[in-house]
Formats: sequence, C-alpha cells, structure tokens
Amino acid sequence: MKSTMPIDGKEKASRQKKRHPNWDPIHGKNAPPGTKPVISPDMPRPASKDDKLEPAPRETSSTFDLLSGGSCTIRGMMGSDEQMLSDPALMREGRIIDALLAAFIVDLDGSDNVTEKDVAHLFTVDRIWILIKQYQLSGPKIGNLPPGDGIEIVTRCTSKTCREKNESITSIERDLISTLRPFPENGDEVGASYDPEKREFTKQLSTGREITWGYSRGINERNSQGVQNPSMLDMLALRLRKIDGKPGAHAGMLQKFQRWELAEMRKLYEQTRAGVDTRITIFCKRCPQVYDVLLEAQMAFFFPGAR
Ligand SMILES: [Zn+2]
Repeated sequence: MKSTMPIDGKEKASRQKKRHPNWDPIHGKNAPPGTKPVISPDMPRPASKDDKLEPAPRETSSTFDLLSGGSCTIRGMMGSDEQMLSDPALMREGRIIDALLAAFIVDLDGSDNVTEKDVAHLFTVDRIWILIKQYQLSGPKIGNLPPGDGIEIVTRCTSKTCREKNESITSIERDLISTLRPFPENGDEVGASYDPEKREFTKQLSTGREITWGYSRGINERNSQGVQNPSMLDMLALRLRKIDGKPGAHAGMLQKFQRWELAEMRKLYEQTRAGVDTRITIFCKRCPQVYDVLLEAQMAFFFPGAR
C-alpha cells in the first residue's frame, strides 16, 4: 500500500536529493555525460562568494559503542594531552597510550572515573577504535578529505638500498573503517569451541596440539613494547592464551612449533580477526618495494604534524 500513497513535500525533497548530478529537470531523465546541468529558478542556487559561509562547528565530545559492547564517551584532545606525548617518563614506562586514553575518556560504560588500569584491560581492538574516534573528533583537515579523516604518514622505504622518504595520505573512513569486522559470535567458522565471556577460542591443530587464543588487551601490548621489531612469533604469541590447556604461553614456546602449525595458527587468527585492520600499505615512489606500516605506530595518528 505504501507505494500508492501520495508523496508529501518532505519525502519528495529527500528523493530529489538522491538524483544523479546530471538530472535533467526538463526531460525528466539523466542527461548524457558532459551536458551542462540546467538551472531552473526553483533549484538551489550554487554558492557565490557573497554568501557568508560559516564553518560548521566541530563537536567537542563523542559517544559511541565499543566493539566488545558497552559505551564510551571521549572529549577532544587538548594541549595537556599533546604534552603527554612528549613526557619522557611516560615514554620510558610504555604508559603513553594508557595515560592518554585515561585522560580523554570521560565515561566508560557508566563510570566517569577512568584509570590507566581500566584502559589497560580493554581489548586492543577497542583501544584502537577509541583512538580512531578521537582522530575523527580532533584530527586536522588534510588535503580534500573532511576534517579528522586524513592522516599524513611519512615513512622510509624498507628496502635497505633505497630508504626513500615516502609521504602518503590515508583516509580513516575509506582505508580503515571499511575493514571493520565485529567480534565473532561463536567459533563455528573455524570449528573451535568458544568462550563468549572471555572471547577465547579453543581448537586442536592438525598435529594434535590444542591451542586457546583470544584477543590482545592493553596489558599484552605493553609486554610486547620492549620488542622493537616484533617477529611473526611475537605477533602470534600476543593472541595465544594456552597450549594444551596450560596458561602462560609466550613466543619462546612457539619456537618449538612446526612451521605448518604456525601457518595454521596464523590462518585461524586471521579468520577470527575483529576490529579495524590497521595495516597501511605503502608503495615506494622510487623503487618497486611495497611495505606495510601499522596505524598505531605512526606518530601522526596521535600528534598530527609530528614527524
Ligand atoms: Zn624504495
């Protein structure tokens, strides 16, 4: 019945907005490409330089859901937060991200007294989600992208014979949020048993060894911060919780694993990935090298303009 109802003014206006930019109001069809649009008196007039364009005020806080559930409210970044980023004590102790999150999160699931300990227990994917929301709230306008969307990244080519300085612009919305995946609801996809409380999977590898893996939290990140260039084993160990039911799994234990077991683990991890994929692919402008960098390892993500 809905389709036969008369279209009221409001609905009509919203329908017109969705029309093709080449919409031809005289012939009632899309004009061929390259045709100059016909301006009729009742169509909105294009902005002229006489129009007073007031920039839209930006929000100073943002409320959203965490990927693991629960709500979070953040305030925009201030001078005091930027100062934290150059605090040598915080840097030495690997506490910068925790201190930063605890400072600008004003409400975490109903609690307005958020400590570094609270944020250290959040899942890494939630911490990154909060940092992305913060960039959208406080990030600068870069190029033609909307304010808080573009990140200017400067990296060195990873080829030892090249080392070219590559500048690139990443869009939060187009390159990162487009990769967002929710937490899996069960272990069916990978044939694993699943503990929804801890968000942990348990499965026997084809070699008979049983592994339990979950998602890294802030505390796990801190433990791996001493490692300058984390190896593949370090990365696998970040999500590993138990081997054959025994807790305390670490990268050293994985050295005794067969290569195909590690490949199997990597595949299981990828299939159960949650959150935003923060890898940014850089194409060197001078040589054929293509390499990945992580968003959270880029200073410009936290401190726009910093190199
Ligand atoms: Zn290069």
